[in-house]
Amino acid sequence: MNKNKKKIFILPILVTVISLGFLIYFSLPSNAKKEKLYVNFTKDLNLKKVDKVYDIDLPSINVKLKDGTIYKTDNPRSENFKENLLKSGVRVFETSLIDLKYLIPSLGILFSVITLSFMFLSLNKTGRKSLFSVSSLDVKATENNDYSFSDVAGNEESKESLKDVVDFLKNPEKYQKYGARIPKGVILYGEPGTGKTLLAKAIAGEAGVPFFAVSGSDFVQVYVGVGAGRIRNLFKKAKAHGKAVIFIDEIDAIGKKRSETGSGGADERDQTLNALLTQMSGFNEDKGIVVMAATNRLDILDEALLRPGRFDRHIEVSLPDIEARKKILALHLKNKPSLDIDIKEWAAKTAYFSGAKLENLVNEAAILACKENSNSITNLHLDKAYSIILAGYEKTNRDFIKEKDKKITAYHEIGHALTSLKTLPSEKVSKITVIPSTKGAGGYTLSIPEDSMYKSKDYLEKRIMVLLGGRAAEEIIFGKNFITTGAYSDLQKSTDLVYNMVTKYGMGERLGLLSINNISSFPSIKSEEILKECKEIVENLYEKTKELLLKNKDLLDLLTEKLIEKETLYYKDLV
Ligand code: ADP
Ligand code: ZN
Repeated sequence: MNKNKKKIFILPILVTVISLGFLIYFSLPSNAKKEKLYVNFTKDLNLKKVDKVYDIDLPSINVKLKDGTIYKTDNPRSENFKENLLKSGVRVFETSLIDLKYLIPSLGILFSVITLSFMFLSLNKTGRKSLFSVSSLDVKATENNDYSFSDVAGNEESKESLKDVVDFLKNPEKYQKYGARIPKGVILYGEPGTGKTLLAKAIAGEAGVPFFAVSGSDFVQVYVGVGAGRIRNLFKKAKAHGKAVIFIDEIDAIGKKRSETGSGGADERDQTLNALLTQMSGFNEDKGIVVMAATNRLDILDEALLRPGRFDRHIEVSLPDIEARKKILALHLKNKPSLDIDIKEWAAKTAYFSGAKLENLVNEAAILACKENSNSITNLHLDKAYSIILAGYEKTNRDFIKEKDKKITAYHEIGHALTSLKTLPSEKVSKITVIPSTKGAGGYTLSIPEDSMYKSKDYLEKRIMVLLGGRAAEEIIFGKNFITTGAYSDLQKSTDLVYNMVTKYGMGERLGLLSINNISSFPSIKSEEILKECKEIVENLYEKTKELLLKNKDLLDLLTEKLIEKETLYYKDLV
């Protein structure tokens, strides 16, 4: 409900309060009606001063004199009291004296109560609900926000993949003309503080459309139906603006996989989620509304949310690498007085810091400089701020990964990349990084697979070698006793591959061309024999991989050094 309607309610409430005030004031002992002795009343009567007498049947009567004075006195209840009064020309009433000073406030209260009830009843259901704070969610659009992509440093890939969304918001008609379907929903996922909110704001700012921000937790309420109502309200408001960006932070609060829900509050969340899905299917792409949502993890979200027509574009917002950290630091230092700060060095020192942490670092340093009345922020302030921040974060660690870990990750990833470069040169290694992503603890090596319908035995063996390359590099550099758990998922994949080769693709010795699926019921099949063969193949390939890496040890060291320094390498850095 809007502000104006709320104001109307104030008037009757005010009247009631004032009236009550008067009533209380008049009934205070000092203001109570005067009381006179009966003898004094008879005197007045004899002097012909009395005009009217009320309440003739009650224990005490009210007397009104001709000069307007009112007082109370005892009712003698003598037999011809009334007759005597009448004979002396006094008007006598059996009813009470109507006293305006009581009547008016009482009427005021009556009037207000009636108006209030009418106003309340005339509100629609949601309006009535929103009168009570439990269900009111006052989302306001931020219009003309002046955020732009230049406020987001780094995150180049995410920005690149969001450019068309901006373009679409600017001219939805153009896209409609080509029949292009632009995503209605975009999910930004990544560690906290990596700039997801910032990106969403920048999109609204770049496109010049209103920005509605809510948090998933705003919709999780004790009362069933409130969350769903809020969703409908939110979309109604946004639609009223025509074009808009709706941003839902912490979407997991309403969009967690249903199976993972405990019993409490599950119904409520389902209703809210359903309302969101319905609203998203309910508006047409050409209207120019884009819903953006943020979460730390994509894998915990309900599938229904991720289907086409809902949140069908998923964009990872990763922790900044050294280049990005340089840009973020520079951005936050830009409008602050600083002196001799070596941004490059600070970017190197802040591995695994999120954008928010970098901002925090600069801010702490600024506060320290301010406390000291120093003219500008210096390296010294940053040093102190750095210790403060690390001390604060170290308890919840994971942020400050030791240099040693970074080195292990780097060798491991280069192990994969180098094996890939040497054995499968046609598969481009597009990106290597030591920055952890939400998908895995270490870095990852992304290669674009060769496009072919069939995979040859030779290809599969090389794939296995690439998968083993990480562990092989670790063993070469750090020794057999210092290999790590980092190869966990590599080994799962390589085991799968080799098992399928031997048992399904007819590429092994023991089963030859037989497929295990069809003969597994024969008790005489010795699974140990199959296992032995798989193990032999993998071990052979592992030795070959180590040999290959040893032969290229110089390149392994060189690329690793480069990766440690730059944190992210692309294809062009490798060749
Ligand atoms: P998220 O929504 O991913 O948790 P936010 O967008 O709320 O993170 O980021 C919090 C703050 O951290 C921002 O307001 C900004 O000051 C800073 N920040 C984060 N990422 C960046 C970035 N890429 N460039 C500049 N500042 C950033
Ligand atoms: Zn690996």
